[in-house]
Amino acid sequence: MRPRTKRERLVAELSSKLPEITEAQIRWGKKHCFPHNAYRCKDEMWCSECGKMWVDVTGQKEGYIKCPYCGERLEMKVSRKAKDNAVSYLTVVTTSGDFQVLRHFYTARYARKERDTHYFIDEVCQQWITSDNKEIVIAKAMNMGCRGWIHTTDMSLKQSGNIYYPHSYDIDGYVYPKVKVLPILRRNGLRTSFHGVTPAVLMRALLGENKYAEMLIKTRQYGMLEFYMRRGGLSHPWAVNICNRNGYIIKDGSMYDDYLRLLDYFHLDTHNAHYVCPKNLKKEHDKLVEKKRKIEAKIRAEQKRKERIERMFRMKQDILSFIKRIQPFLGMEIKDKGIVIRPLESVTQFYLEGKAMHHCVYQNEYYRRKDCLILTAQKNGKRLETIEVNLKTFKIIQSRAACNKTSDYHDKIIELVNRNMGLIRRSAS
Ligand SMILES: [Zn+2]
Repeated sequence: MRPRTKRERLVAELSSKLPEITEAQIRWGKKHCFPHNAYRCKDEMWCSECGKMWVDVTGQKEGYIKCPYCGERLEMKVSRKAKDNAVSYLTVVTTSGDFQVLRHFYTARYARKERDTHYFIDEVCQQWITSDNKEIVIAKAMNMGCRGWIHTTDMSLKQSGNIYYPHSYDIDGYVYPKVKVLPILRRNGLRTSFHGVTPAVLMRALLGENKYAEMLIKTRQYGMLEFYMRRGGLSHPWAVNICNRNGYIIKDGSMYDDYLRLLDYFHLDTHNAHYVCPKNLKKEHDKLVEKKRKIEAKIRAEQKRKERIERMFRMKQDILSFIKRIQPFLGMEIKDKGIVIRPLESVTQFYLEGKAMHHCVYQNEYYRRKDCLILTAQKNGKRLETIEVNLKTFKIIQSRAACNKTSDYHDKIIELVNRNMGLIRRSAS
């Protein structure tokens, strides 16, 4: 995009006058943007800072160790890896004209065992923010899918995100400690630390985008600030005021929010400093969590008990109404050439039939169906098929062997039942 407005032209001009990254900034970035590790594989160690390898027979596997070559303090890691590439961002916070400027430097470290370590540092993005909270972005191009910068391009004016993903250039880099901020941001509480919040996000919040950011930063409720910026809202803003009046600092924002919701759950007064400013937040929080867990468990058990009773009641009803319905068919038998066909005479028999035949005659509660007579066909005590007859139409609906297949006697069974449909009809009437 070419600069079109007066402001954009001004930003383009000011941007070209920004100084190059300094040696001190690069040094700071190398030190703070990357982990510093010593990788151990058996007795061999190598340093992610200088790539040099040495032998260490102490067997120490964790903690810190000093590199004998470059003197860097390293965290020990047991790993067979022979290369260690790391990418990070260094953010320089400065001002230019009436603009707040965030300069984001892409920083990469390429470390190999027994090779020199290389660094790559490239400025890829600048966010220019005005005191009336407008933003102009100058950045390098990204490749498709916004997964990487095209470092060979020059920085140019960019649209800052779209409606689906606004502020897509908010980079959460390691902030170089020499921070310069606009007077209005300073007035609203910003000093040198961003308290775990992405710099651009906190700046916009302090320029009026988020209601409580200024109050939280000025009252040093940094734990709550970080949580608030992440969540985007405070469920009990008055509680923070009570904390501030009582000189109570919230360290863990998310645990504190959780705690306030628990107070609500137990109808405890969130306007009362006694509850709102607990001496030991974790202890009180855990106590309430446990109490809530017990109550919920009781409620669940009670619910289960009720369900069990309901189930028993329904089962009794089913058995009673089934007994009534099966009464006219009790003792009925259709026999021919060793095949015996009888109705299932109890709910238990439905269960046994379903279990033996691996079908759903019991699970699907055929015994509850009014116009349905279920028969079992057996030979020498062995179950052949289960037959469903409709008592309105007196037609066979289905006849199934084990696993819903058909047996060798299928046609014979159908013929037998149809031949005796008169008997069933007479019993039913
Ligand atoms: Zn080293």
